[in-house]
Amino acid sequence: MHMDPLSLSRGNVARLVCLDQYKILDTPAEPLYDRITFLAAQLLQVPVAVLVIIDANRLWFKSCHGIKAHEIAFDSTVYSRKKALIGSESKIDLEAAVRSELKLAFEQSFCASAVLQTQDGMMLGALCVLDAECHQAGLTDDIILRELATVTMALLETKFDRSKLMLTDSEKQAQQKRDTEQKINDSERRRLFVLEAARIGDWELDLITGVAQHSMLHDRCFGYVTPVEHWSYSKFLSHVHPYDRATVDCCFMTARNESGLYEVEFRVFWPDGSLHWLLSRGCFYHDKAGNPIRAAGIQVDISHSKMAQQHIDRLATAIESVTTAVITTDSLGRIDWTNKAFLDMTGFDREELIGSLPSILLQGPDSNSATIEIMRDAIRSNCGFEVDILNHRKDGTLFWQNIKANPLPTDPGDLSCYISVHNDITERKKLESQLWEKANYDGLTSLPNRRLFWDRLAQEIRHAHRLKKTVALLFIDLDRFKEINDLYGHEAGDLVLCEVARRISRCTRNSDIAARIGGDEFAAILTDFSTVDQIDMVIRKLLLVLSEPINCVTAVCSITASIGIAVYPDDASSPEQLLKYADQAMYLAKSGGRDRFSYFTPVMQKHAERRLKVGRDLRVALKENQLTLHFQPIIDLATGRIVKAEALLRWTHPTRGAIDPAEFIPLAEELGLIESIGEWVFHQATHCAAKWNQACRDPIQISINMSAMQFVKHNASESWPQYLHRLKIPCNHVSVEIPEGVLLKNSQMIIDTLADYRAAGMEIAIDDFGTGYSAMGYLKKFNVDYIKIDQSFIRDLDFANSRTIVEAIIVMGQKLGMKIIAEGVETLQERQFLQSVGCDFGQGFLFSKPVPHHEFSQFLQNNAGY
Ligand code: C2E
Ligand code: MG
Ligand code: MG
Repeated sequence: MHMDPLSLSRGNVARLVCLDQYKILDTPAEPLYDRITFLAAQLLQVPVAVLVIIDANRLWFKSCHGIKAHEIAFDSTVYSRKKALIGSESKIDLEAAVRSELKLAFEQSFCASAVLQTQDGMMLGALCVLDAECHQAGLTDDIILRELATVTMALLETKFDRSKLMLTDSEKQAQQKRDTEQKINDSERRRLFVLEAARIGDWELDLITGVAQHSMLHDRCFGYVTPVEHWSYSKFLSHVHPYDRATVDCCFMTARNESGLYEVEFRVFWPDGSLHWLLSRGCFYHDKAGNPIRAAGIQVDISHSKMAQQHIDRLATAIESVTTAVITTDSLGRIDWTNKAFLDMTGFDREELIGSLPSILLQGPDSNSATIEIMRDAIRSNCGFEVDILNHRKDGTLFWQNIKANPLPTDPGDLSCYISVHNDITERKKLESQLWEKANYDGLTSLPNRRLFWDRLAQEIRHAHRLKKTVALLFIDLDRFKEINDLYGHEAGDLVLCEVARRISRCTRNSDIAARIGGDEFAAILTDFSTVDQIDMVIRKLLLVLSEPINCVTAVCSITASIGIAVYPDDASSPEQLLKYADQAMYLAKSGGRDRFSYFTPVMQKHAERRLKVGRDLRVALKENQLTLHFQPIIDLATGRIVKAEALLRWTHPTRGAIDPAEFIPLAEELGLIESIGEWVFHQATHCAAKWNQACRDPIQISINMSAMQFVKHNASESWPQYLHRLKIPCNHVSVEIPEGVLLKNSQMIIDTLADYRAAGMEIAIDDFGTGYSAMGYLKKFNVDYIKIDQSFIRDLDFANSRTIVEAIIVMGQKLGMKIIAEGVETLQERQFLQSVGCDFGQGFLFSKPVPHHEFSQFLQNNAGY
């Protein structure tokens, strides 16, 4: 025996001396030791177990299970390993060295060991289990292995007991016998304890004698509560479920005749009729000739885990086949299971998903950050959650998912694993958003509707309140929109509304909110401005842009708007008040002549209240004879004689007295009263004309003001020319004054009506010329007879500019074959200027204010000239 004296430590020398006394080295195999390695392998569920003795220059095996080996000689060339094995003083190091030597020699990855040591602490060897696969040895495994090592050591002690060296021969023998019995009892007790703890029933069968040994636990595996007398193979088979019997038999026979080892799971019937699952593992031992001589094995009742597994399998199959997508995630949040529905939903393969984070679905721009935060919070506190989230499929398409997730039960202190159910709710979301859009947006213009407008207004006011900012509310009402509907039809009306919406949106900034809050009412909420000038700028731009002509397929329409503005917090503190005041301001803009804007002031509020009352009273004014007509003469400037008269409506309110036409005429138009009032005016005026012209030598012409809305005759039984014919009033005794803008509307109905009037002999005058579009070309097209120059030009005749314009109108108008009437002539200078530039007619306070018809009758009787 060659040894390296340098590497054999003093401790190891003592150990080797002790080992020598046990006379175990190079002894043949013994069933009791084989049973220990077998048990170790079975209980720890590893393929290999060895009982190794550490000699001076080798590891020698007393028993090997699952592997064939006799000894491993220390490789003297690898000095460090050899030194670790025999040069080590520490038992822990020595044990570790043995483990690594075994792993290396048998090419195994896993080795657990328990030392064989004498009562005085000498380490003789170790009981080791090995596996090619990595294990994590648990506490129970460790206990089992150590108990089996103790059993082994007890066996070794029975072979050799050093204490007997000190006794007499007979004493030695008696002592030895007692100790042996004691140790065998101890070892058996420990073995039983281990088996009992693991609920394992063991058995052994001498195949030569047929004698079987079996533990009570073994019998219990078959449902017996008292020990069974005689077990035989056929008796064993008779307990096995008929369906499993052939498999079990085949397994045992193969082990008996070939492999030696077997492992099989099968069902047994208990005497009470219940069915149980058993796991059986065992080994057949053969003699040198290869004949089976002995068999040993263990049995465990695995019904519980089998049933649990069955339950899990069934559950997994069920979840796999449902159409709802399900995944589970591990404690690190990675997907560790998915059903087919989830793969179908996302388009991913199983391999792509397993091991990856569910965020694999969140590939695009992150629109879910708030939702993700909710999920993170829930996971951090180990809670369930339900969220709707926008995800991507593998092909990149977006889809909405509803996720319901719940933590799976884990051991205390462990991180949560989750199970989550996913539903594709894209369609639902689409519908919801459609419904939301329908409820909050105007179908025609796509602008926010009144409802959303209220929400936003309230929100902006809250926001402004918090940040001490200002909000301006613009109430935008289209002027005479009803006319567009009436003249061109609703389709054109719709087109105009859409275009107006576009233009309003164009004029406001992204942070502002434009909405359609009624038929022809729009609103804009302006936020984030520092000076009123900024509001002014938006409004001026709006008015300008809105007044541009709108192409409505069949016609070019023009529309203007009146805008009222109220400001938070200066004017009002609530959304309701703010809207009310903006509305009132808008009415002020309307009565100021339309196509303009007005800010809210407290005076406005009074004005609005009055408007409301006046409007109510106007409805009954006609019936209650509160309306009368006044006449204002129109003078031929060349002769100074009255040749015409304008009929002007007067309203004497029972309590308020005379109300200005500038106030009530627009009201009548808005309230839809202008049609009946207009008819009344026409009848009155023409009656007067008939009367005066009967008596007069030179007939005078009465001109009647006509609103654009009067061209739409909703219930007209008789046209004006027809009426005049019926009453035998010559048509040329009547002319109509229409506002300039009416012609620009280019409506067929207006064209036809005016053509009718002219064909019958009535004449047409353009009122207030110069205040609107002043398009001369139109006048020619419509065969207009008179231009009435607006009084604002006459008032400004002191200015050269105005004089030039007036002169130009007169020259151009006359060139186009029209006659010119100057309105609002108040001074002699004005009259003289007008006469000098060839103006045909004059009307104004210089000649007379509008007067009641009896007064006007007197004028006519005395029509000597002004
Ligand atoms: P208009 O058709 O331009 O009528 C002329 C207005 O100028 C009248 O105001 C008249 O009183 C005023 N006026 C005449 N001469 C002078 C003057 O020298 N100086 C000043 N400062 N004013 C003068 P009125 O009567 O208040 O009527 C206002 C407007 O109401 C009319 O303007 C017309 O557009 C409308 N209106 C009056 N009656 C009727 C009606 O029967 N039907 C319709 N549709 N509108 C009417
Ligand atoms: Mg007029
Ligand atoms: Mg006028």
